[in-house]
Amino acid sequence: MSKKPIMHKARKRFGQNFLHDAGIIRRIVRAINPKPGQHLVEIGPGLGALTEELLQEAGALDAIELDRDLIPVLRTKFFRYEDSFQIHEADALKFDFASLRTDDRPLRVVGNLPYNISTPLIFHLLSFSGQISDMHFMLQNEVVDRLAAQPGEDHYGRLGIMAQYYCRVEKLFKVPPGAFQPAPKVDSAIVRLTPYDQLPLVARDVHKLQEVVRTAFSQRRKTLRNNLKPLIDASTLETLGIDPQLRPERLPLEDFIRISDAISEQQQEEH
Ligand code: SAM
Repeated sequence: MSKKPIMHKARKRFGQNFLHDAGIIRRIVRAINPKPGQHLVEIGPGLGALTEELLQEAGALDAIELDRDLIPVLRTKFFRYEDSFQIHEADALKFDFASLRTDDRPLRVVGNLPYNISTPLIFHLLSFSGQISDMHFMLQNEVVDRLAAQPGEDHYGRLGIMAQYYCRVEKLFKVPPGAFQPAPKVDSAIVRLTPYDQLPLVARDVHKLQEVVRTAFSQRRKTLRNNLKPLIDASTLETLGIDPQLRPERLPLEDFIRISDAISEQQQEEH
């Protein structure tokens, strides 16, 4: 039986690049490995390319979609799943993911994310890492490289440091532009983020850590001494065993935590 094509013009402002390569879709779903009974959450189901297989494997899914024109398309396509397919017409950037936790099953979050908002969306999701067992995302290849980057590498910065604070990060495989309709201008890749049950390194105040990392990278080519001047002086950095002349991209997560903890301690003493 031939399927009737769904008429929907891809919207750039919603970052719509729909997957249409069956082999790639299969490979992504295999990497996710959904099982019946798990609590799956898909961000941006679009026309349902991944949703179809995810529902087949897991039998139930919550989907968050911003484009209201896609909601009836999805409802029609997956009508047979009735209550086990829940669509939330919402902006994933503002969505309270904790509200989906109705029992003790953690969330498995997946999505071919809209590239125009992927970085703020990942930061938003990291704040729910306690509710999430893993995340599988299609992103621009460069963003995946930033998530996985180690100190000294070109892409090392705020996104990777904060993602690696909360999660184990694995780049799984690259996806060429031809797998999408319309084709994006850049290569894409699949990443798996697995939040730690117990954080291997813990900052006294994670908001302070975020502020330190943001400030340290405010000018990538400048030294820690210069960038961090508003928060900590060079002699305190030296006391911590950190060379103030280093550029921020050389510093591992544990050193950012040391700086942030020292500032938290200093500020506590002042109060
Ligand atoms: N999952 C589909 C696929 O793989 O073919 C579509 C992926 S497309 C790259 C991104 C999807 O995210 C689109 O359906 C788009 O409408 C949706 N979207 C864009 N911004 C969103 C937001 N802020 N919150 C939720 N969904 C959003």
